[in-house]
Amino acid sequence: MLVYKVFYIILLAFHGAASSHDSDSTAQSPSTTACVNACADLRDEFGSRLHHPGNGNFNVWDGKQQEVQSACRVEPSTAEDVSKILAALVHHWCPFAVKSGGHAQNADDSVSVGGVTIDLNLINHIEVAQDQQTVDVGSGSTIYDIYHSLEVFNLTAIGARVADVGIGGFALGGGISNLAPKYGLAVDNILQYEVCLETSGAEHFVPLPLYLTYQIRQIVLPNATIVYVNENQHPDLYFALRGGMNNFGIVTQFTMGAFHQPKGLISQTDKIFSLTQKDAVTDEAFQLTTAWKNDTDMAFYYFFSYNSIADHFVLAFSEIYTQPILEPAPFEGLRQIPYESKTARIERMSTLSLEAASRTPSGNRNLFATVAYYPSARMDRHIMEIIEEEIEPVRKMAGFLSNVMFQPLYENVVRAGRERGGNALGIEAKGPLTVCILSATWSSRQDDDAVSSFVQRWIQRANSATTQAGVHHDWIYMSTTPIISKIRFQDMGNTTRKA
Ligand SMILES: Cc1cc2nc3c(=O)[nH]c(=O)nc-3n(C[C@H](O)[C@H](O)[C@H](O)COP(=O)(O)OP(=O)(O)OC[C@H]3O[C@@H](n4cnc5c(N)ncnc54)[C@H](O)[C@@H]3O)c2cc1C
Repeated sequence: MLVYKVFYIILLAFHGAASSHDSDSTAQSPSTTACVNACADLRDEFGSRLHHPGNGNFNVWDGKQQEVQSACRVEPSTAEDVSKILAALVHHWCPFAVKSGGHAQNADDSVSVGGVTIDLNLINHIEVAQDQQTVDVGSGSTIYDIYHSLEVFNLTAIGARVADVGIGGFALGGGISNLAPKYGLAVDNILQYEVCLETSGAEHFVPLPLYLTYQIRQIVLPNATIVYVNENQHPDLYFALRGGMNNFGIVTQFTMGAFHQPKGLISQTDKIFSLTQKDAVTDEAFQLTTAWKNDTDMAFYYFFSYNSIADHFVLAFSEIYTQPILEPAPFEGLRQIPYESKTARIERMSTLSLEAASRTPSGNRNLFATVAYYPSARMDRHIMEIIEEEIEPVRKMAGFLSNVMFQPLYENVVRAGRERGGNALGIEAKGPLTVCILSATWSSRQDDDAVSSFVQRWIQRANSATTQAGVHHDWIYMSTTPIISKIRFQDMGNTTRKA
């Protein structure tokens, strides 16, 4: 059994980890002798699966992570390989980072600055259970791999909307999907984890967060262990992994719920509205979040996006229905609002995810931020006004794009978490929520500070607006949170529990 003290240490470790990202100037820092030695040992074991900077076919999404130099990158293909790598890294006392789909945005998140990058891309098996109720997914798989493999079986799983996002970060941080209204978040649809972690050698099982392995050296033995974690085995770790990101071990396999979805087909209609329709569209979004919340086939999101070429904002709405039905009932109200353009189709989730990936190419610099609140059309509009005002100092910047995206988080999501005994995300709400995500994209390193200030100002103003209006909710979606805001684990609504 875990003890409370262990969780306390884990919280400190997370905070320490977050602080270490703040000194991102280390992005170019040279490898230490310890890591050079660790890489030499790993080369003996992994041969051509060990790469030095610039070698091998390696891509991460964000420009800030692309600048990072690791001492080496190693590609395990099994959990046993990961265990050997961890043992070597602890032996040499070399820091490391773990990479699944590589969509994190900060140096050292999934590409180690001067340490070892553990690239999970070869752990990419996808095996459907005989009863077709579950699927074992290797933690280096992308969302596209999962959708595409399952469509052959007329199945699907809880995945992101974008093809090249990795299951690793997506499923450890929360996992909002088009299927969330029906089944809940990805974290609440993982039935078992295969995890590689460091153990203290104590009689009882005590997992240590990855960052702790080089913060409190004396209690770590070079003893990397593979464990299976589910509701019955190591339930505390099961709770912690569901929202605890990479603080508790390296997950090598997720056993996920598989759901009937013939050919993976759903319907998606994307519309662009004139800004003169802003009131009507936000009012309709409110109706969909509140009055239509019981139609769990329905999902939607909408954007207020700054288009730097045209130098103006655009209002775009995506209507999703997880049945192959065009023009389903919930969107009837929206159909009454005149639009400027529309694309409607019934399509495989895998194909839709590829389309979405083509709209989010790699290589730019990106920051995300998020705020949650009880549904309010007026608040949606106010948050749009905030971005319009705050964008002024940065809007002319090279390659600058920004938008706010609004999407509902229905009670079903909260309920799904509760039914599994709770999770470390700690979402509790007395009704549906609106999750609003700001994204900012730019191209030059020189503009990092200016964009970061823009994002900080947006966070501050959005939080104070929701608080003043009495609709604020504390939950912060971790996967879209900038480290720069120095948010602590417990401030994000994340919960711990006593054993
Ligand atoms: C273009 C884009 C689209 C997105 N769409 C969605 C969406 O539809 N829904 C949604 O909920 N989120 C979405 N996100 C957020 C996304 O889920 C997170 O950014 C997620 O962390 C990315 O995971 P990754 O594996 O691709 O990234 P990585 O950079 O590989 O990993 C992210 C973090 O998770 C850790 N990690 C990864 N795998 C493991 C593992 N196996 N064991 C331990 N730690 C691990 C890494 O160390 C890193 O810190 C999107 C993000 C982007 C950039």
